Amino acid sequence: MASSRLHRGNGKGTQSYRIIVCGDIAVVVDSVRVPCRNKEYGCNETVDYMNNGHEETCTYAPCSCPLLDCNFVGSSDQLSLHFSSKHWDSGRRFRYNSPLAVSVGMNEQFLVLQAEDDGVLFLLNKGVERIGNTVMITCIGPSSSKERFLYDLESVRGSSSLRLKSATHNFPGWLEDFQPTDFLLIPFCFLGSSGHVNLDVCIWNSAELCADCPS
Ligand SMILES: [Zn+2]
Ligand SMILES: [Zn+2]
Repeated sequence: MASSRLHRGNGKGTQSYRIIVCGDIAVVVDSVRVPCRNKEYGCNETVDYMNNGHEETCTYAPCSCPLLDCNFVGSSDQLSLHFSSKHWDSGRRFRYNSPLAVSVGMNEQFLVLQAEDDGVLFLLNKGVERIGNTVMITCIGPSSSKERFLYDLESVRGSSSLRLKSATHNFPGWLEDFQPTDFLLIPFCFLGSSGHVNLDVCIWNSAELCADCPS
């Protein structure tokens, strides 16, 4: 069975038809349009059931709340509102383009950062390797989104400092596996006596600054 498509303008838009060829018989059928699978998260698009490019890049794709004891799932806008109303004391608020001093406890795996300007959520992720801790920042959003934020991480000990300059990748919370690309490795000797990782973080939202971001 083969199928091909034709389009016919009707003055108001384009109606799409599918021609299905089965043996010697060709049948013209109306294309089947269905709601986007992210309708429950606020998307009002309808998509062609057979030729669906929209859902791969839909900006309403679900993201999960980063807190491990919360099951909330919603679009990134819904998640921003959820986090600022339900967990306002569980993350750090910050302003773009301004440094923020943060501390991640020995037993903490991440810190949630929420931008005061637009509510966008970021995760400062901490991992443990044999010789130290890895740290990097991701933006909570659909992984299809190409939006990037430049960021700086700096860890200082006495006259020494370690610094990472990178750009965030989007990651929809715990719904997908994530393979980090860039990270800062902070040797254990950099940690304070309490085992806390102390960092200066700066996240930039300037489009010009991000013009040559790695993709
Ligand atoms: Zn959609
Ligand atoms: Zn939550």
